[in-house]
Amino acid sequence: MEIKGIGFDIDGTLYSNCFMYLCTIPSFIKHPRLVWHFGRVRADIREIRPVENYRRLQAGLIAGSIGRPEIEIRARVEKHLYEDWEKSFRIIKPFSGIGEGLLELRSKGYKLGVMSDFPVQNKLKYLGLEDWDCSFTSESTGYLKPHPEPFLELARRMGLSPEEILYVGNSYSKDIIGAADVGMKTAHFAPSVRAGSIADFTFRKYPDLFKYILNKD
Ligand SMILES: [Mg+2]
Repeated sequence: MEIKGIGFDIDGTLYSNCFMYLCTIPSFIKHPRLVWHFGRVRADIREIRPVENYRRLQAGLIAGSIGRPEIEIRARVEKHLYEDWEKSFRIIKPFSGIGEGLLELRSKGYKLGVMSDFPVQNKLKYLGLEDWDCSFTSESTGYLKPHPEPFLELARRMGLSPEEILYVGNSYSKDIIGAADVGMKTAHFAPSVRAGSIADFTFRKYPDLFKYILNKD
């Protein structure tokens, strides 16, 4: 089936992970236990079904893991992680060639969407990439990638079937496996082709991705 829309991950896909590590270092130094438990819970939470209120569930699990009241941990996670990270991402820059490529895709009528496991709006503003048909965090669906729900929500918001979407991401286990599971085509942003990869395309420079998409039809 013809590709009619492209969905993108953000972190490590639209900008380098080096920025992400740089931006999150201050919180690691100031709140090491909180960050460690947050990371641990984010890994475990992917297996929990069903999820009704994602942020509440996450705070409750971190609170249990640290041994502090949920209300205190929820406030600390919102303030020291989400709010501080959002501010610290001011320095991020997109990979070379993305802005021009997206404009070209837009001019050819492709729909463009963003779906990330973390909040998206400030990052897209800092990246100077704000022209999307939809952009949202998987947290709003109650599930993180690679659960099918955020990918199906992306298709709904783009007004396309999953088979008409190419999902682009740097994480094989979350982006490529998750998108392929719901029937999307996949482009893996990686230094080399992974052994046994199920991705339809692997690339390490954005002009190659745009060439691949535009030559397809
Ligand atoms: Mg990523």
